[in-house]
Amino acid sequence: RLHNEVQELKGNIRVYCRIRPFLPGEDRKNTSIESVGDDGELIIANPTKLGKDGNKTFIFNRVFGPATTQEQVFLDIQPLVRSVLDGFNVCIFAYGQTGSGKTYTMTGPNSPTEKDWGVNYRALNDLFNISLERKQVIDYDVGVQMIEIYNEQVRDLLSTDGIVNTSQPNGLAVPDATMQMVQSTSDVLDLMNLGFSNRAMSSTALNERSSRSHSILTVHVHGLDKKTKSTLRGSLHLVDLAGSERVDRSEVTGDRLKEAQHINKSLSALGDVIFALAQKSSHVPYRNSKLTQVLQTSLGGHAKTLMFVQVNPDASSYSETLSTLKFAERVS
Ligand code: ADP
Ligand code: MG
Repeated sequence: RLHNEVQELKGNIRVYCRIRPFLPGEDRKNTSIESVGDDGELIIANPTKLGKDGNKTFIFNRVFGPATTQEQVFLDIQPLVRSVLDGFNVCIFAYGQTGSGKTYTMTGPNSPTEKDWGVNYRALNDLFNISLERKQVIDYDVGVQMIEIYNEQVRDLLSTDGIVNTSQPNGLAVPDATMQMVQSTSDVLDLMNLGFSNRAMSSTALNERSSRSHSILTVHVHGLDKKTKSTLRGSLHLVDLAGSERVDRSEVTGDRLKEAQHINKSLSALGDVIFALAQKSSHVPYRNSKLTQVLQTSLGGHAKTLMFVQVNPDASSYSETLSTLKFAERVS
């Protein structure tokens, strides 16, 4: 309760922790998860320090345990998603080490059935449904962009050459990337498939690459009130971040080291921006990475930010889990 009050003071940043279940074949006995409270409390246990001394407690706005379904997660964030139709800018991030469930939360598993759909399909679906309900009063147009940021370079996933066309002055938050108007969730599914195929890589290479790039699906909403003729704009950025794992400098060189440095830099820049916003600091350091530059107009001000902090339950991930939770604690 206290935390919720603090949350209101700090405004528009919320942090939800999600613990993925053990996968078939993983040894469920060795977990670093000590307990998950329904009040946002998470206790993790250090596998090398037995007993209570090794426990650490974190408090977030919510903690979703491993049995939480995609539907339950979405129900919780539905009001936030719908606020886009009232003209808000919303950013939803998934943060965590590779294999912690970021893509599962945002998109779903590979070839999802409707019940495993992640946040992005559900959000689009919901926005279309609500805009239909309001059809008599407000005319909504919905446009979608998909970009990837890899090694501090932006790639337009909806253009066949991947190049961001800077001559197209559409004045959007994600500058100049191709925007496609969409009428239905199935249009969005088609576009996402196009976006994935534009990454043009074999699926293992794609998996590898996707864990080292940030991918951003942006939904732009434009509403026209039929009676008053007033207009509104809202946007939703759905961001599957690069894996947050620390790379051992002594073990990688060349391209891998460069990638790791870019990821490191952009994730810490993101943390610094959200931290500055949470502190209501007068200087917000947006310029330090492509990621924060691209999202600048949608972070801060009246924008709303939600961070999913993803956790792998395995004890062998303890030190990554700890650094993930510390990152989350700092921005929450
Ligand atoms: P990341 O994107 O962080 O690298 P993934 O989303 O690819 O992680 O998840 C790793 C694996 O765990 C995938 O096989 C994914 O389907 C599975 N997984 C993740 N979260 C869940 C969940 N909540 N329920 C079931 N399977 C999950
Ligand atoms: Mg992923």
